[in-house]
Amino acid sequence: MSLLLDIAEPGQSLRPHEVRPKDRKRVVGIDLGTTFSLVAAVDVAGKPACIPDDGGRVALPSVVCYPPDGGVLVGEAAVVVGQKFPTDTIASVKRTMGRSLADVSASEHRTGFGLEAGDGGMVRIVTSHHRVSPVEVSATILKSLAGRAEEALGGALHGAVITVPAYFDDAQRQATKDAGRLAGLEVLRLVNEPTAAALAYGLDQRREGLFAIYDLGGGTFDISILRLTQGVFQVMATGGDSALGGDDFDHRLSEFFLKEMGAVDVTPELLQNCKRTARQVKEMLSREEVWEVSMDRPQGEKFTRRVTRGQFEALIADLVQATGAPCRRALKDAGIRAHELQGVVLVGGSTRVPMVRQFVKDIFGCEPLSDLDPDQVVALGAALQAEQLAGNARGDMLLLDVTPLSLGIETMGELVEKIIACNSPIPTARSQDFTTFKDGQTAMAIHVVQGERELVGDCRSLARFELRGIPPLTAGAARIRVTFQVDADGLLTVSAQEQTTGVNQSVAVKPSYGLGDAEIERLLREAMVHGEADWRRRLLNEARVEAERVLGAAGAALREDGDLLDAGELKRIKGVMLALWEASQKEDYEAINRARETLDQETVFFAERRMDRSVRKVMTGRRVDEF
Ligand code: ADP
Ligand code: MG
Repeated sequence: MSLLLDIAEPGQSLRPHEVRPKDRKRVVGIDLGTTFSLVAAVDVAGKPACIPDDGGRVALPSVVCYPPDGGVLVGEAAVVVGQKFPTDTIASVKRTMGRSLADVSASEHRTGFGLEAGDGGMVRIVTSHHRVSPVEVSATILKSLAGRAEEALGGALHGAVITVPAYFDDAQRQATKDAGRLAGLEVLRLVNEPTAAALAYGLDQRREGLFAIYDLGGGTFDISILRLTQGVFQVMATGGDSALGGDDFDHRLSEFFLKEMGAVDVTPELLQNCKRTARQVKEMLSREEVWEVSMDRPQGEKFTRRVTRGQFEALIADLVQATGAPCRRALKDAGIRAHELQGVVLVGGSTRVPMVRQFVKDIFGCEPLSDLDPDQVVALGAALQAEQLAGNARGDMLLLDVTPLSLGIETMGELVEKIIACNSPIPTARSQDFTTFKDGQTAMAIHVVQGERELVGDCRSLARFELRGIPPLTAGAARIRVTFQVDADGLLTVSAQEQTTGVNQSVAVKPSYGLGDAEIERLLREAMVHGEADWRRRLLNEARVEAERVLGAAGAALREDGDLLDAGELKRIKGVMLALWEASQKEDYEAINRARETLDQETVFFAERRMDRSVRKVMTGRRVDEF
């Protein structure tokens, strides 16, 4: 046994465990796909590799079969046995994760198994003999992959990164996380599939750039535009077609076979056989120009036919072209043009089809990145991220997530002061100082809000708490530091501290909970639509708050030191105060500000006289030897 050489057969992955220092944590990346799922880990040299099953295959069909006589089968075994029990075999369970029955029924995709509404309208799967939730089915797939990894890595897993489509909302992500937990996995992080693919290519090393991730899998097409800034990926736009993928290529080819065969009565067996053959031929034609088909006909004699790549391309051309519109739309949504992209990444088994590659090249005008196996890249990137999160990898901690909406607090006039801007990479912490508004104010209400709008009423309220025990000082003298902290999972903690006394209060809030992507999108869109009007309202409210403060201060000064003014001066100051009050009742913020400036100017001499008096008061109140 040689310790120096690690020999692997071509096409077969290295086992990443061979030499494992004791302090290295066993972590994996899992691509939980619609049609295939994979698990990968990083080896001691820092290279990620997919972990194969006993038969040397890395891709596990995302299929689970519950035979009527009990037990559960996953992957290849489920596919084979499933042919006998189609209503007990669950494929494409990912399409039902975190979805209600209404969501799934509304989608174009037809499942082969029964569905019903469970708790809160969420989908439950009905087989011929039992009911099961999509989370449980996914957990079965995850458990199978985890078992494979534990065997390869030689022990229990410390944790896993699981990938999800970029467009997955809160409920779908939560369901995926639950599936991980149900499978006994510690879910270190959910990472977007396009981000994982970009990581696999090391695009994060470039620090800056715009990238397109073109993912054509078995049943879905996804296009994502990512922006990388200072090593952080931000999803700028997503699009695609949830009912377009390699399965449709198979379908076109098998229809072609049936026609060529002149089959009149198409039995389910013949159909199955045609589909299986079609997939093989399709995959062969990615490498070969011509392929010989040979199939058993129901009547007995064999059906043989030579199929050229050109013939196959003619059958699927319109399907490939249908991926163009979502690509153009995503570029438009991201506000960029194709030539601004620094790279295009190919993901998904169907991007092996040469015609698809050529199409991607044409539409984006550059040679796509394809050195890595397109059906493995997502798992490989997830493994790299898991390694980082476990602290095994050297180098900077990768920041992959951003806050979807701005976080801030309410200030006077029902305005929002943003503390953490939307799209800030997390974890992050930011502080801002605030002051008291009234003389002797000893408490301050802190209202935490989320959203892009200028007014509190248009944002989402997250939490309220009160900071008490502020020393009674004149308005504007106390200094209250409010700190917002968002951890890596998006959880927000807000604390407030009065700086001179150190009085502290804090509260933990969960900003993203229950706020689905749809709501986030709505809030963002509203902010864009209302931007101008919001800004005007904000200026108006600010002007009013300031007017109120100045009027309050002037009134207090008159009460205290009014005797410093003669009747004429008093009348003039009261006149400008009234003018400011009247202006503040109207909607014109500029007029309010003008009136306030007038009051400021008209009271300068009064302020000076008050200053003289207070200085004299201080001096006369003390003995000379105190100075
Ligand atoms: P998903 O992400 O949807 O789970 P994959 O990315 O693994 O799935 O893609 C699966 C699809 O890729 C299947 O339709 C499969 O037939 C197709 N595929 C795999 N290898 C090839 C190949 N060599 N040529 C063409 N299509 C392929
Ligand atoms: Mg995939």
